[in-house]
Amino acid sequence: MLYYSTNKQSAKADFKEATIKGQAPDKGLYFPETLPQLPAGFIENINDLSKEEIAFTAIKPFVGNTIPSDVLKLIVAETINFDFPLVKIKDNLYSLELFHGPTLAFKDVGARFMSRCLGYFVQDIIKPVTVLVATSGDTGGAVASGFYGVEGVNVVILYPSGKVSSVQELQLTTLGKNITAIEIDGNFDDCQQMVKQAFADEKLNEELFLTSANSINVARWLPQQFYYFYAYQQWADKNNPPVVCVPSGNFGNICAGLVAYLSGLPVKHFIAAVNANDSVYKYLQTGNYQIQQAVPTLSNAMDVGNPSNFIRILELFKHEYPQIKNAVSSYAITDEETKLTLKDTLSQYNYLLDPHGAVAFAGLEKYLQQHTQEKGIILETAHPVKFYDVVELITGQPVERPASIQTILHKKKESVKMIPQYKVFKDFLLS
Ligand SMILES: *Cc1c(COP(=O)(O)O)cnc(C)c1O
Repeated sequence: MLYYSTNKQSAKADFKEATIKGQAPDKGLYFPETLPQLPAGFIENINDLSKEEIAFTAIKPFVGNTIPSDVLKLIVAETINFDFPLVKIKDNLYSLELFHGPTLAFKDVGARFMSRCLGYFVQDIIKPVTVLVATSGDTGGAVASGFYGVEGVNVVILYPSGKVSSVQELQLTTLGKNITAIEIDGNFDDCQQMVKQAFADEKLNEELFLTSANSINVARWLPQQFYYFYAYQQWADKNNPPVVCVPSGNFGNICAGLVAYLSGLPVKHFIAAVNANDSVYKYLQTGNYQIQQAVPTLSNAMDVGNPSNFIRILELFKHEYPQIKNAVSSYAITDEETKLTLKDTLSQYNYLLDPHGAVAFAGLEKYLQQHTQEKGIILETAHPVKFYDVVELITGQPVERPASIQTILHKKKESVKMIPQYKVFKDFLLS
């Protein structure tokens, strides 16, 4: 499998090169040249397959022969060594809980897969690799945990000061070793901009071997397909596939779901639920895409004004607007609706959502009200305890702290404070 750059100016790359580089040299995103089709019988027999077999089959064509199958099997098994339960909230609405990994968010899957692939690839690189990552909250913790202690890889995480939850902040600032956290006096787009500038800086790239662990990296983006297979495997009514609603920020997750769908996975329809950062919602309403300034909301991991993976969605559907609309709908949910949904879902169904899951729930409900024959799944992308500050304020009830959180709450934060200025960041990287 080869990957081309969405800007079409760079040479094609295999999975190894695309993973190491992160972004293509022409600043485009790597995109698979062809979409593999699932093997015959795979969907029909999915209930007889283990989750390791499903994941390996889904990802193998994208990796090609850059990783031997026995190594890839191990990487896959380590990536998904926790549960992905599909839980019924009410008659027509289920939650695929993606928060049973080490940092309690779905990003664990992409980060664990990518760190292991990169760890394998850097064995024959002399210089240490520096992974740069901008985070709106959950990426930082997942990447820090996934890469912690990986030989030959240093990780630098930029996060917006005061705009991530306290659990998220502790998850990315308390590990130390090969993980450095930089606290930017700005918003997520400032962080993302600084990282993008670093990748575009030829001088800097002569000095350092830089790569990205944001979902622009194919090794983080593509394994997210697994969730959708696990959802379908647990879906009882195989004759009536689910509508899947994804709380979306950078649109990596939903875009991976669309890859699975175009490869042959049955999904009735996709819904991108967004918060006030609604550039893709507006695109789906009007056909016009306009970059926005990110605005802060209760679902902070989705506070993205210019989603990186939007271009990949266009690419998947060959820039055909009607085809995109046919597969994907979108709903923009206000913070007020998010609060109400979170509260109601707890009181009516005894199910505690996190703010991102609440956005998805509200979005899916709007869709189901108009499509009463359908049933749907939300991807619950984080454990509510990750946002306990917000959640407890909304529900007025304490959120139970799992053991992994108890320990982290007593650790000391270590961060480098920085203004959102590229030169300062560059000097830091070179020092
Ligand atoms: C990152 C994140 C999202 C958004 O996912 P994208 O792939 O960027 O669209 C949603 N919910 C949570 C909890 C997240 O951490």
